[in-house]
Amino acid sequence: MIVMLLFLATSWVEAHPKFCSYTYSVWNARERRSEGPYRVTKLYTELQTHERGPGGCSVCDEDQVPVRLSNGVTFKVCGAFREAFQSGLEAALSAGEVIESVTGHRPSKSRGHLDGQGRRTEFSNHAYGAALDVNEAQNGLYDFCVTWSPSCQLIKGGRYVPGGPRSFTSRSPLVRALRDRGLRWGGEITGKQKDFMHFSPDGL
Ligand SMILES: [Zn+2]
Repeated sequence: MIVMLLFLATSWVEAHPKFCSYTYSVWNARERRSEGPYRVTKLYTELQTHERGPGGCSVCDEDQVPVRLSNGVTFKVCGAFREAFQSGLEAALSAGEVIESVTGHRPSKSRGHLDGQGRRTEFSNHAYGAALDVNEAQNGLYDFCVTWSPSCQLIKGGRYVPGGPRSFTSRSPLVRALRDRGLRWGGEITGKQKDFMHFSPDGL
């Protein structure tokens, strides 16, 4: 009995990695440039609230899993979101969607208020492996874009051409497949930005 309890206790402890390591960058909005990289290695038990994200995910490399799609495209995401992302992408491929590039886990502070030097202070969903950017070259991130029009201002990625090759719309197989799995498309969020490459639990 004691041996059994010891075994169970040991198994539970090992369900969490002992160490957490990650390399992150910080977006300086005032100077419009990325700072870093900064390397972090610490005990997993010492993770702080801002290092933990949705679904039990974290910024740690140790919580990310590699995914290889049937078309050969590879990326890393948090284990808790792998099934939803991978099955959605495969369903879209089967429906004829062309998927050229996918980025998942990417630790950077690109959200939240600015500090005294103009630097963002919060991690994004990508930092936790809880977001995907797909076909960035045809699905840019736009500002001053409450509703889409060609006068929206492109701030990252390539030019968005709805109806054009590899650009997504609300009726695209990928947007529908990921929506069916509880994920939101950054092209459909309210507010002044539209992120047409981006998918996550809240679209941000
Ligand atoms: Zn994104």
